Amino acid sequence: MSEPAAPASVSMETLVSLCKRRGFIFPSSEIYGGINGFFDYGPLGVELKKNIRDCWWSDMVRRRDDVVGIETSIIMHPKVWEASGHVAGFSDPLVDCKASKQRYRADQLFFSPVTVEGRVIGYVSALESERTASELQEAAELMKRKKAVQGKLEPVAPRDMTEARPEEIELIPSPATGEPGSLTPPRSFNMMFQTNVGAMTDAASVAYLRPETAQGMFADFKAVWDTGRVKLPFGIAQIGKSFRNEITPRNFIFRSREFEQMEMEYFIHEDADWAKSHREWINWCKGWLMSIGLPESHLSEYDHPKEKLAFYSRGTTDIMFRYPFGVQELWGIAARGNYDLTQHEKASGVPQVVFDEATKKKFVPHVIEPAVGVDRIFLAVLCAGYAEEDVTDDKGNVEKRTVLRLSPRIAPVKVAVLPLLKNKPELVARARLLYQKLQRRYAVFYDESGAIGRRYRRQDEIGTPWCVTIDFETIEADGSFTLRERDSMQQRRIQEAELFALLDQKVY
Ligand code: ATP
Repeated sequence: MSEPAAPASVSMETLVSLCKRRGFIFPSSEIYGGINGFFDYGPLGVELKKNIRDCWWSDMVRRRDDVVGIETSIIMHPKVWEASGHVAGFSDPLVDCKASKQRYRADQLFFSPVTVEGRVIGYVSALESERTASELQEAAELMKRKKAVQGKLEPVAPRDMTEARPEEIELIPSPATGEPGSLTPPRSFNMMFQTNVGAMTDAASVAYLRPETAQGMFADFKAVWDTGRVKLPFGIAQIGKSFRNEITPRNFIFRSREFEQMEMEYFIHEDADWAKSHREWINWCKGWLMSIGLPESHLSEYDHPKEKLAFYSRGTTDIMFRYPFGVQELWGIAARGNYDLTQHEKASGVPQVVFDEATKKKFVPHVIEPAVGVDRIFLAVLCAGYAEEDVTDDKGNVEKRTVLRLSPRIAPVKVAVLPLLKNKPELVARARLLYQKLQRRYAVFYDESGAIGRRYRRQDEIGTPWCVTIDFETIEADGSFTLRERDSMQQRRIQEAELFALLDQKVY
């Protein structure tokens, strides 16, 4: 169960509606009623997402001497997924409700016995949320009242369905119907999407849409190593789509069935201090999230308990983000030993070793893997950046403004160019000239319709850090424009060269 969330300043409904209204995100195939777990990024969303990817690529690959990038195919040889363990084990425990035909992830469906003075009078259930425990408690109180049982109700003791004893399953009510008797015992459900390659649809043609990009880096490790551009320690990074047939896609783009990952495999010497490297990468990832505008106060770390780790794993730490629906995983940083390369060596017969000049020994490198979802970062920056404020205009009127405080690094539009009046050709001509110059390097927006205050508000709502207004002073005096800053709403005069210098410094 997730930790209780600190009070969130924005509800998911508000964000989803902003995303739709302003063209950030739409449900996929909406004209046909949508398809659960799939989303489309609209004109502003695609810019924001591209900026997140580009910042990561610049910082992770281009600005580092020890990381190279690759792009591997989405459909790989099925043996890759056998060797990696995904065919046998990439599954979630699934519980069916036979009455409603709903499906639940067993580890997200919680229940508790309702106990009155040591006697169990029934069971209650609730889906995972930041209120799971209190929902169960309320349901338990209701049950006691309905059954008119006398005595002191004991506090609920939530467990998830993977921990239910066989004799309990019959007694646990389905969250869909509220009645016991329809839930099945948990069973394994493989989350890989299957397809067939070629004209024949038989067992030999089965292939999978990748559920992670990481295996591309392992499968190509030798190819990258043999190009001779790298030496240990070094990383291989990739950005790309991944697909998981999630049992319960939810929380908007937080858990979807098609999503995008940014992963990096950092290969280290077998004798290297893995814990030090692991810590360095956790710090790097946190620092990077802050560099694109996520506040430190919303970030925390979660160390996976040793007993829950896979046998080969040395340690996994997740960077958690405080979403409106609870504190949840944003970025996982795993120390995976040399499990993956060893598995591919065994399955392919191709040695995955490197030669150590110092010890004259061959060995399979170990790896630290920071893996993050672009869509989860996207959602996090929206949650952290969204604000509604009361502002007072020149005439003393108070009005609400909605503002997205996105870092200039990732904001979909960097500058809006606004001629003060649209019926003054000289203002419009100057504004269009500046707009065209800016357009060569940045995503900019030209807007001449409506009162200037309204135009500022429209930009605030989509996170544009700066607006420049071309007014009569621009043409009649020194050529300067008004620069209006989104967060402070302050205005000052600025020359064109200064504007370009500001952008150069803030948009990197
Ligand atoms: P979770 O426990 O939330 O299902 P995971 O531990 O299975 O996530 P990883 O396999 O470590 O996730 O994937 C790395 C990253 O990919 C995650 O930290 C997350 O940011 C992103 N990710 C994973 N699954 C999804 C999904 N269904 N939708 C969006 N992003 C995802």
